[in-house]
Amino acid sequence: MSKREYTLIGAGLAGSLLALLLVRRGASVRVFERRPDPRSVGYLGGRSINLALAERGLHGLRVAGLERTVMDQAIMMRGRMVHELGEAERFMRYGKDDSEVIWSVNRGRLNTSVLQAAADSGAQFHFDSALESVDFEHRELCFGSSDGVHCRAQFDCVIGTDGAGSALRAAMLKVADLGEHIEWLGHSYKELEIPAAPNGGFLIEPNALHIWPRGGYMLIALPNIDGSFTVTLFLANEGQPSFAELKSVDGVREFLAREFPSAVPLMPAHQQDFMRNPTGALANLRLDQWHIDGRALLIGDAAHAIVPFHGQGMNCAFEDCIELDRLLAEHSDVESAFAEFHVRRKPNADAIADMATENYVEMRDSVANDRFVLLKQLERSLAGLHPERFVPRYSLVMFHRIGYAEAQRRGRVQWQMLEDLLSTATDLAGIDYAEAERRIHSELLPLL
Ligand SMILES: Cc1cc2nc3c(=O)[nH]c(=O)nc-3n(C[C@H](O)[C@H](O)[C@H](O)COP(=O)(O)OP(=O)(O)OC[C@H]3O[C@@H](n4cnc5c(N)ncnc54)[C@H](O)[C@@H]3O)c2cc1C
Repeated sequence: MSKREYTLIGAGLAGSLLALLLVRRGASVRVFERRPDPRSVGYLGGRSINLALAERGLHGLRVAGLERTVMDQAIMMRGRMVHELGEAERFMRYGKDDSEVIWSVNRGRLNTSVLQAAADSGAQFHFDSALESVDFEHRELCFGSSDGVHCRAQFDCVIGTDGAGSALRAAMLKVADLGEHIEWLGHSYKELEIPAAPNGGFLIEPNALHIWPRGGYMLIALPNIDGSFTVTLFLANEGQPSFAELKSVDGVREFLAREFPSAVPLMPAHQQDFMRNPTGALANLRLDQWHIDGRALLIGDAAHAIVPFHGQGMNCAFEDCIELDRLLAEHSDVESAFAEFHVRRKPNADAIADMATENYVEMRDSVANDRFVLLKQLERSLAGLHPERFVPRYSLVMFHRIGYAEAQRRGRVQWQMLEDLLSTATDLAGIDYAEAERRIHSELLPLL
């Protein structure tokens, strides 16, 4: 059988990992990337310096043999440190112990490590090559470089790993109805920074994801290995308060000082950061179709970009790579592999989009709500008593690899149980644990 040839568009997180997996299977892989080579000019990421890495992403790195390289530079986040206005900070653990944690990793370092491994294994990378158009009939791609030079390349099959603003998706939409829906959240984000302490240490607890919940909006902070924290403000586009209102330095200073008085003294450059850094819009992208027969397929953010509130976009994109690599190896023809990939991954991509959107409300609002805290306490208690059946939805998403759709389904059953058990109780002492056990055994199968 002749060697399969794949052309990938985008050497980001998904593109680099997929290139590595495919080339290790003996395929010929070319990757065209819009940006310059991050190994020679540094990583020009432009957004979210650090990312939360969880079990699904870790699994991808494990399969690729890169877990150790990446984890050497990762910071453990054991739970949420909640900073409510005028109250002492409160820590809420994510899992049962330190075996259930998430990790803050540097996007640039992660991307460059995976890309280097793919190049070492034989994938060919072409940088400064932005996809501009596609002739699907004659299987020809057209690229442009920063100095205005255009070049063309023939393809056998092309895979779009070119992110949320995918040029391949735009080209596919010109020739096929992919059923594109973009759900704008009406909120955007802005990155700020808490620098390292003068001695290079951390100014706040490093092993936590910090949240300053304020109802309709919030600030979060993730630690970096150099002692700094990447801080992100999530806020509505319009209304009060909103990005539309925050146009002047004075307005920004007043808003942040009023709403986040404990965070502002940690961010000496917050006004400059706010005025200088771009405001990123937030949306979920859904497509009814991810491929055009065996010629073109979209994966990762190009197929299903999601809002970042579950920290799962990259984790999900890595899962895509593992599944696609497996299906391409199993199927004798690419078209049926692409079709099965879509059937298997689409319900999961839809489920994580829903759960990520719900998590925004949980992070910015519910974590500061007494009833929600009580529901979470009961959830922990039942998870401790019935660990093989009752696993909190957050844990199913972050620390397990069961499908997102199944995590969503089990999560709904469990949340209803919690609501029912707490409908007649005001604290954990009032819970009917015998009834809880009966329902858990009748409604939840053991997790395999
Ligand atoms: C604020 C924020 C925070 C986030 N936090 C997390 C988190 O904590 N955990 C998590 O799992 N996910 C997180 N995500 C999501 C995560 O960043 C994405 O899901 C992930 O980057 C998707 O990987 P990808 O390879 O599909 O796309 P990308 O990483 O965006 O890579 C796309 C690549 O394609 C290249 N490209 C684009 N256009 C072209 C073109 N025309 N021609 C050639 N190349 C092109 C780009 O330069 C880039 O290298 C976050 C996202 C945001 C916005």
